[in-house]
Amino acid sequence: MPELPEVETIRLALEPHVVGRTFEDVEILDPRLVRPFEPLAVAGELVGERVAALERRGKYLIVRFESGRVLLIHLRMTGSVRHAAAGQLGDDPYRRAVVRLDDGSDVAYRDVRRFGTWHLLEPGEVGDYLGRRLGHEPLERTFTAKRLGERLAKRRAPLKAALLDQRTVAGLGNIYVDEALWRARLHPLREAGTLDDDELKRLTTAIRQSLRAGLARQGASLRDYSTPDGSRGRAQEEFRVYGRAGEPCPRCGTPVDKIRVGGRGTWYCPSCQRL
Ligand SMILES: [Zn+2]
Repeated sequence: MPELPEVETIRLALEPHVVGRTFEDVEILDPRLVRPFEPLAVAGELVGERVAALERRGKYLIVRFESGRVLLIHLRMTGSVRHAAAGQLGDDPYRRAVVRLDDGSDVAYRDVRRFGTWHLLEPGEVGDYLGRRLGHEPLERTFTAKRLGERLAKRRAPLKAALLDQRTVAGLGNIYVDEALWRARLHPLREAGTLDDDELKRLTTAIRQSLRAGLARQGASLRDYSTPDGSRGRAQEEFRVYGRAGEPCPRCGTPVDKIRVGGRGTWYCPSCQRL
């Protein structure tokens, strides 16, 4: 599932191709993408909109139009975006939407599992919509150990589950939570509300480092994710624990263990991350 580094990689690559461009033609091929609205109606609303900015918040891609409206794209499990020069877009059985831009190039949306969503919001709606769903942006200065502590205070859930909750920190998913907990030397089953100041500092730094490591390698291509030019990310080559059960911990050599936390596969080092 694309997490912050994957969505930000897509944003960075797509930004120069879409900002200032107008949506000349829009085809929504899968009604699930815009449910409960009609694909034809949504496509009609999008035609003629000119892109003012491409932003990201958590795992959401935010297309801001000059009209003040916003197209909010969430890739969920297997969504990805491809940009192709005029006439260069090949066939794809998993294509769910295509936007033709006014330079003739295409932005295609692909989604094997079809959980992704496109949500068109009217001017002024986006702040409230995202504010209710998302906590601090972890790569911004506003994300501090103190603020993370406030979000975790009194929570009895396992630390891993609390960090997967997008209202705690925006943009983390299964991969980067495991990587961050390893870096911070914290056990995934630790009760979230019991971290002391030093542990909160370690965790804050570890979250940032894990996300930056992912971003530096264009995200992780485990299954479906690829960048808008079709290339694969390489973050998976540098994972410390994620998906590495039985392999030696890069810090101490103890075999990495796999458990389940809140139904999610969870990898950690039983020596470095003690409960
Ligand atoms: Zn270890």
